[in-house]
Formats: sequence, C-alpha cells, structure tokens
Amino acid sequence: TKYAHKINTDPVKSGKTHKDRANRATVEQVLDPRTMRFLAKIINKGILSRINGCISTGKEANVYHGDSDNDTREYAVKIYKTSILVFKDRERYVDGEYRFRNTKNQSNPRKMVKVWAEKEFRNLKRLYLNGIPCPEPVELRSHVLVMEYLTKGQGQPSPKLRDHPFKDIDEIVHYYHQMLYYMRRMYQECRLVHADLSEYNSIVHQDKLYIIDVSQSVEPEHPMALDFLRMDIKNVNDFFSRKKINVYPERLLFKYITE
Ligand code: ADP
Ligand code: MN
Repeated sequence: TKYAHKINTDPVKSGKTHKDRANRATVEQVLDPRTMRFLAKIINKGILSRINGCISTGKEANVYHGDSDNDTREYAVKIYKTSILVFKDRERYVDGEYRFRNTKNQSNPRKMVKVWAEKEFRNLKRLYLNGIPCPEPVELRSHVLVMEYLTKGQGQPSPKLRDHPFKDIDEIVHYYHQMLYYMRRMYQECRLVHADLSEYNSIVHQDKLYIIDVSQSVEPEHPMALDFLRMDIKNVNDFFSRKKINVYPERLLFKYITE
C-alpha cells in the first residue's frame, strides 16, 4: 500500500489517532518505542523537526517523509523493520562479504537491521562521493537512515523510472544509456554491484537517473557479485525492451561494465 503524502504533524500521536487503519498498523509496526528513541535523537540534533506521512511500506523497510524548521530541505527517513520473517532471504547478501564478515548478528533481528542500515548508508556515501546521482546520505542511527528526499517540490516525490512519462524514443534511449553508464561507474569507481537494480530502484529527478535502495549492494569480491550483476543487467534490459527500444546483448553489457 502506498500513501502519497498524507502529512501527519505529530509523529507520536499519528500512530494512535490516525483514522486510516492500514496506516496505523504500519506506524505501529515500525515506530516502536526503541525506534522512536532513535528518531527523537535525530530530532533533538536538529536534523529533522518532524516525521510526516509514510511514502512507502516495503517488505524490509518503511520510508517516511520528514522535514526541518532549520532548513527548507525535505528528507526521506528509511526505517528498517525488525520482524523476523524477511531475514532469511537477506543473509546471502551479507554472508561472505568482507566488510561485514565479523558480524555475528545473523540470529539477532535487531542487530541484523542495524547492519543493513549501515550497509545502505555506507554504500550511499560511496555513490554520493563518487558523483553518482543518488539521495545525499544525511544521518544514521541504528536502523533509522535519513537521506535527501528526491522531490518535484511541495512534497511530491520524483517518479520512479517505472512511472516516468517518456516524451519520445530518444528519451528512452537516453535513460537506457545513462543507466548503463552509472552501472559501469558504480562497478569501476565505487566497486559496487547494485544487486537489486530495476525501474523500481531508480528515480528520474531533475532530468537525471538517481540510484536508490543500495542496502544489498555488494563489492565485486562477493562470491555472488557477478551473478547479481547479470541479474541487474537483465532487469534493466527487460524494462527497456518493453519500452520498444533495441537493447545490447547482456554479454556485451557485462564486458562494458566490468572491463
Ligand atoms: P524498499 O524497496 O526496500 O522498500 P527503497 O529504498 O526502494 O526501499 O524505498 C522504497 C520507495 O520509497 C522507493 O521506491 C521510492 O518510491 C521511495 N523513496 C525511497 N527513498 C527515496 C528518496 N530518497 N526520495 C524519494 N523517494 C524515495
Ligand atoms: Mn526498493
């Protein structure tokens, strides 16, 4: 369920008074007292003044809209869920990865989500510092990650690649090439394979393609990295094929990205 910018003014009350049952369930599921304490720290630091509506409810995380009285920026607050069911699937990403090898957290959901949020924050920083368009990472507290909100203004989110209304064939080709170029630069300069790249995890913002959702991204040394890369290439090609352009052979793209 997606809630497009329903703005609640009080984050603490919103879970208790909001009439939308689903939204209430969402708020209560994620904004437990422990999470609220981390949010309070972020608010006390002056980074955010309030958490508004829920932008997205996902399997592993919810994303909220936040803003601040100290500046005019808007923020996306990604809060990982600590429910146990989704963890199994994730282990293969964290297992065998050097940067997180000595984390004995696999059996503790609270520590697991902390590791994922940390991973996303670090990966996002890497993209950001290398000039790959992505939300600016702002703050991390345990499983709560604050980043720049990609917006068209007035709280309206910039569209996912999937929802972008392409003007013509040239524009489709343009974004296809841009995606491939960023995949190459992610690999070559950031040493990262996205590992969940698709039209859902890229956003068209200020006429550029922005990469999001990098918590599962891995370094080329990860035992599954090249398999993940092939999946990414396939997802990207599938999307653009459906847009009726000719795509490059997957083998060729693999070479372009890795060599
Ligand atoms: P997941 O897919 O794991 O639930 P994402 O990081 O992909 O988490 O975020 C879910 C959705 O929230 C995205 O598809 C996008 O619509 C929205 N979103 C996430 N981060 C931002 C951001 N920085 N700016 C604008 N929208 C965002
Ligand atoms: Mn996503």
